[in-house]
Amino acid sequence: MNIHEYQAKQLLKQYGCPVSDGRAVLNASEAEAAAAEMDGPLWVVKAQIHAGGRGKGTFKEAAAGEKGGVRLTKSVAEAAAEAKAMLGNTLVTHQTGPDGKQVNRIYIEDGSDIDRELYLAVLLDRVTSRVSFVASTEGGMDIEAVAEETPEKIVTLTIDPATGFTPENGKAVADALKLTGAEVDQCVELTSNLYRMFVEKDMDMLEINPLIVMENGGLKCLDAKMGFDGNALFRQPDILALRDETEEDDKELEASKYDLSYIALDGEIGCMVNGAGLAMATMDIIKLKGAEPANFLDVGGGATTEKVTAAFKIITSDPNVKGILVNIFGGIMRCDVIAEGVVQAVKEVGLQVPLVVRLEGTKVQEGKDIINNSPLDVIAADDLDDAAEKIVKAVKG
Ligand code: GDP
Ligand code: MG
Repeated sequence: MNIHEYQAKQLLKQYGCPVSDGRAVLNASEAEAAAAEMDGPLWVVKAQIHAGGRGKGTFKEAAAGEKGGVRLTKSVAEAAAEAKAMLGNTLVTHQTGPDGKQVNRIYIEDGSDIDRELYLAVLLDRVTSRVSFVASTEGGMDIEAVAEETPEKIVTLTIDPATGFTPENGKAVADALKLTGAEVDQCVELTSNLYRMFVEKDMDMLEINPLIVMENGGLKCLDAKMGFDGNALFRQPDILALRDETEEDDKELEASKYDLSYIALDGEIGCMVNGAGLAMATMDIIKLKGAEPANFLDVGGGATTEKVTAAFKIITSDPNVKGILVNIFGGIMRCDVIAEGVVQAVKEVGLQVPLVVRLEGTKVQEGKDIINNSPLDVIAADDLDDAAEKIVKAVKG
């Protein structure tokens, strides 16, 4: 789960990390009031969407003006005008995809004078299974380009979970950021707080880009992106309360209501599978046969007919889906429950695309009977290879 910059900065503040004074607002008059509470001479007006690259983004609507989603302004009136220009309009960045995201909230921040922009992130390194710090002197808006062109300018530092974070780790980060003097001590304190926050709040990603050295010295977190482990949210009620469902994919949101493991992808073949491993294998074989999966979906072990019906409806609601492959190897999951769910869903919402069903395992005959006795136009398949071949052929001709 991701949160907005303004929420992330609130958390940073709670953990004693340096951030600017700022207010989140929903309309132009709130923006004006918020800006008036700050002294200036610089007010930063920032679109709040769950995507990075806002500064270099562009708005779809001409009314939003030529500038991106982060605007530096010199007066309260100008700050309010820029907030008004962005609100309700669609910001497209390299992270939003071509559809962009609607800006429903603006963060007004007391502007900082920047000497240098640095990059600092904390993440879960899946290779070492440890928490790592990633640091670079090349912060700002183009860290992807730095990774591409000058990867030696990005330093990764792994934390040993046995010792936890040590001041030496903090000094190593300061070294990577080429900090000197009092800023080294600040960096040690900041990184120690970030590590504690990362672990205590079950984060899987924390990115400060830029971390700045201010003109008159001192560090500040000027931007913040945070991601949290969805499987740990049950024990993070204060984080869960920050969830903004309007930022999430509609289909993923619907799936989460039924406790389905569903991830939307951009291919053309919808998949309904039981078991994460089988779901991965199904996606692989669809690719092997020359098509792309439209989603990852694991209906789980003991799914009910209602859950299967919901899952099937989510798949059919995706306009990119040109064919559906149901691939079930019933162990705990029963094939008759799957069949009933599919038949029920089609009865409710219809079926406009070819459907291949491969059933195997517990109650397979009952499952096949339910499908055969229904009016469903199904292409039956014997095994996974056959099933993948048939659905790709049905879609691609
Ligand atoms: P992003 O484009 O979504 O990553 O948004 P950021 O919050 O990182 O802002 C983009 C850029 O705007 C930063 O890299 C800075 O160069 C600039 N910026 C943001 N806040 C300030 C500020 O307080 N003062 C100044 N001078 N520039 C700022
Ligand atoms: Mg940034």
